Amino acid sequence: GRSPYTCNQRKSLSLIPAHFNAFFATAYTGVYLSPIEGWLMFALMQSAHVESLHLSIDPVTGLKAVIAIHSSRLGPALGGCRYLAYPNDESAVSDAVRLAQDMSYKAALAGLAVGGAKAVIMRAPHVESRSALFEAFGRCVEQLDGRYITAIDSGTSTADMDCIAQYTRHVTSTTAAGDPSAHTAMGVFAGIRSTASSRLGSDNLEGLRVAIQGLGKVGYALAEQLHAAGAELLVCDTDPGKVRLAMEQLGAHPVACEALLSTPCDILAPCGLGGVLNWHSVAQLRCSAVAGCANNQLTNLQVADQLERRGILYAPDYVINSGGLIYMALTHQGAQPETINQHLLQISKRLTGIYAHAQAEKRSPARVSDELAQKLLYGQD
Ligand code: NAD
Repeated sequence: GRSPYTCNQRKSLSLIPAHFNAFFATAYTGVYLSPIEGWLMFALMQSAHVESLHLSIDPVTGLKAVIAIHSSRLGPALGGCRYLAYPNDESAVSDAVRLAQDMSYKAALAGLAVGGAKAVIMRAPHVESRSALFEAFGRCVEQLDGRYITAIDSGTSTADMDCIAQYTRHVTSTTAAGDPSAHTAMGVFAGIRSTASSRLGSDNLEGLRVAIQGLGKVGYALAEQLHAAGAELLVCDTDPGKVRLAMEQLGAHPVACEALLSTPCDILAPCGLGGVLNWHSVAQLRCSAVAGCANNQLTNLQVADQLERRGILYAPDYVINSGGLIYMALTHQGAQPETINQHLLQISKRLTGIYAHAQAEKRSPARVSDELAQKLLYGQD
């Protein structure tokens, strides 16, 4: 499954022992690593099947970056670069490692000739020059000589990608290449149609009640498409300005953030942060299906089984939200818009196939899609 490690190992991913810190402290200063500390690092990589992990610092700009390459089997590894504040080094490393695997699964199932990776730049309270920081990161990417292609992600912008592009050509989603969010939203919209068709018997969205958590770059674009298709929108965002805009422009009904998951609706679309589906929240859901763009929606695969037992159809996140990756990978490879659109159209067909497969085996679509991706990546279930 998605998490091939045992319970004990899983614990070490989220709650790495304090002496794990020592690994980084010594890594930064080049001091010899004890075997036990090194073993923990490799255990972390092995548990997520990460191929290589690259740590970089640049004392001049204050850069502290992690690049986790999960797999290069299907092509150079592509994955966004996050720029976020992390409480400690290990949470930054485990974020990159955890997310890199999803990128491999996403690319493999989307039929792209790229592997999966993720980068993280640790955000400090103060940075002298943001552009210099991203230029330094560009030099790190260049050192990997095309094995890793970077891209926009949480906390980064097309302008940051332009800084990186000054030092490497292994970067997508620059100002010239464009932000992928609109393509992600197109894919999620098509995926919601397939989900409605599989679960509710029709892909007509007229009058369907869709609850959207998070009206960011993808969530708002999705809300616009759903509104145009006649869906009724229930929305929340921690930014009240975005909710107001959706009320004014799209006739959306506002819902308090803490009440959205338990609001009665046909489809719940998580479009904010990851990890929203856990034992507690799934017990509260009052929807027929969950289909949204957020990455890592499930806290673990058992939660997918819980959704299945409750009769709630789950659209695997890395399948339904693959439109942005498809756009970035194909743009980087020089594909024409027509080819990109053809690829985007496959998202709904892929989801319908996964739903049919899952239904035939009475299993969660999350388990089915993980197995399909693993077959493509490792040639086995
Ligand atoms: P974004 O930062 O533009 O939007 C996120 C929105 O969610 C913001 O408006 C924020 O205020 C809101 N939000 C955060 N926490 C919330 C909460 N608890 N309740 C309600 N609202 C909350 O990000 P985005 O680019 O739209 O991406 C959204 C999600 O989709 C992320 O999980 C991202 O990893 C994933 N994703 C994005 C893309 C893409 O192309 N942008 C591609 C694949 C996956």
